[in-house]
Amino acid sequence: MNRNLSGFLPPFFLVELARRNPTNTSYLETLVQTQKLWLKGEQTFLPFGKGKSDRFSHDAENKEDLPGKLVRGENDPAAKDELINRAHQFAQEIRDFYKTHFNRNGPDGNGDNIVQTMHYGLKYNNAYFSVQMVYGDGDGDIFMTFMIRDVAGHEIGHWFVSTTCKLVYWKESGALNEHMADVLGVCLNQWVAKQTVEQADWLVGAGLFNPKLTGCRALRDMVNPGTAYNHPRLGKDPQPAHMRDFVDTWSDNGGVHYNSGIPNRAFALFAKSLGGYVWEKALQIWFGTALRASSNCTFQEWADLTVKVAQANYPETVDKLKTAWSTVGITVK
Ligand SMILES: [Zn+2]
Repeated sequence: MNRNLSGFLPPFFLVELARRNPTNTSYLETLVQTQKLWLKGEQTFLPFGKGKSDRFSHDAENKEDLPGKLVRGENDPAAKDELINRAHQFAQEIRDFYKTHFNRNGPDGNGDNIVQTMHYGLKYNNAYFSVQMVYGDGDGDIFMTFMIRDVAGHEIGHWFVSTTCKLVYWKESGALNEHMADVLGVCLNQWVAKQTVEQADWLVGAGLFNPKLTGCRALRDMVNPGTAYNHPRLGKDPQPAHMRDFVDTWSDNGGVHYNSGIPNRAFALFAKSLGGYVWEKALQIWFGTALRASSNCTFQEWADLTVKVAQANYPETVDKLKTAWSTVGITVK
């Protein structure tokens, strides 16, 4: 069970939306559709070649067949549909990101093609990666779009995890899987925008929500977990920012989308304490950790590993790294 079963929006959030917005059926429909997609994804083999992480961008034309109509291949000219061009661009940025920072041949390291489908379903409120990337249009009421760079970076980040440490999608290792996906999403954002750690907003999914919904900045906030949204139609961001508030639950695969807030905060605080660009050292340490972690890694083991990797490569950062972990309640000796 090392696969992300949920899509970008966690199931508990879609259930909460359905409860708070009973006249809008799209949230429950999205939940069912995501489960169907996952089942299909496990069985589908897409007959696309390997080697250069070529991009294949499709249009589902608001139906539910995958991959849909091929609109733009790797070297094809721009499509009429701006959303498709945007997704095509994101895929290139992601490919360049893995090459530039990790000298890696695509997210999986194997150069498997990046296949994606836009306009999936009708009012489908999610983005999703199983064997390919899938984007819904959103309901236009709460969700304005899922075509967001860090959402793409996050989802494809799960692909990276599934080809490196294969963190089991349950409890702490599952929360680390979510955490690493968030790290890859925000670092992609910061790198493309050439932002320093101070300039960056450290939000995951900014632009997702209708701007009319006050107090809803994003789905997650890495610096201040638990503060990304708060609204009668959405509920409140439930992420803990410290081990003392660790959420012990059977739901959400053992709280994977809740507790990822804890390592998220440690990463963001560490990067901010270093200054400069996140990809210079902090991202490299996390990448090194992902290569070495075991699939059932705990928060403590992950934190210990980050310090080991830092000691070997950037010893000057170790004190700041330990401080960041202790701020969220994890002591590394
Ligand atoms: Zn995820």
